[in-house]
Amino acid sequence: MDYFKKKRDASVKRTVAFVIAHPDDECMFFTPTILHYKRMEYNIIVLCISSGNQAGLGRFRSIELVKSCNELGIPGKNVIVIDWPTLQDGMDQHWTAADVASLLEEMTTRYAVDEIVTFDEWGVSGHPNHCDTHRGVIQFLQNYQQARSKNLPHTHRKQVEDQKQNKTAGQMKEIRGYKLETVGIIRKYIGIWDIWVSKLFGAIDGDSYHAKHNNSTDSSSSSHSNSNPTIMYTSTQLFPPCSYDPMKQHQTQLVWFRYLFIFLSRYSYINTLTEIKLN
Ligand SMILES: [Zn+2]
Repeated sequence: MDYFKKKRDASVKRTVAFVIAHPDDECMFFTPTILHYKRMEYNIIVLCISSGNQAGLGRFRSIELVKSCNELGIPGKNVIVIDWPTLQDGMDQHWTAADVASLLEEMTTRYAVDEIVTFDEWGVSGHPNHCDTHRGVIQFLQNYQQARSKNLPHTHRKQVEDQKQNKTAGQMKEIRGYKLETVGIIRKYIGIWDIWVSKLFGAIDGDSYHAKHNNSTDSSSSSHSNSNPTIMYTSTQLFPPCSYDPMKQHQTQLVWFRYLFIFLSRYSYINTLTEIKLN
């Protein structure tokens, strides 16, 4: 019985890609969501668009990212760090949406990605690289949706999916995008209390929403539905918060205020996301 259940689970395992800008974004901001996807037994990919080389530490920071992801249960082979001249870390660096979108096209094909999780328009902290990451994801999703609506083969996706999912040749599957909500400064630093504040604002439990969403009739339910609820993933682990151990792996970034951030930030206890709906 268990054997057949495992076989079935393996055959339907979905893949989520976390698209972040710098090593440490994954644990400073996304830990409750990553833990949710672990519970849902997804194959988790982390795509980090820069190596965080502003201070010349990119090589070390890339290694730290792998260690942090290992703490979160993500194997090193699923961690991809990009180091393009046009996509370097820095407040004064502008990343074009086209560059980020082309990266995503390559990665979603290679890993047969079903869902993407990234920053929203304001990038949690307002860092320009976070905001540009969001814009690149939007660009990719728009390109992908256009190709899909014309049912065009998208690079090598057709072959990859045919092999992995035994689908009809030429059919492009749905890719859903989710963005992490940026909140105001007060809510940002009230830690675990923001779970109740978010509930007051109507956020719904993410685990049950996501399970139900995946079991519903796929594209028809998500693309034609007008409702776009705020989905909430939580961790009530207090001492230390769930993002503490992965953050400790980022030795080059561990200054005192990072510890403060980990304990006080709501992003250590709660993530709220909405699905990205294209016009
Ligand atoms: Zn960052």
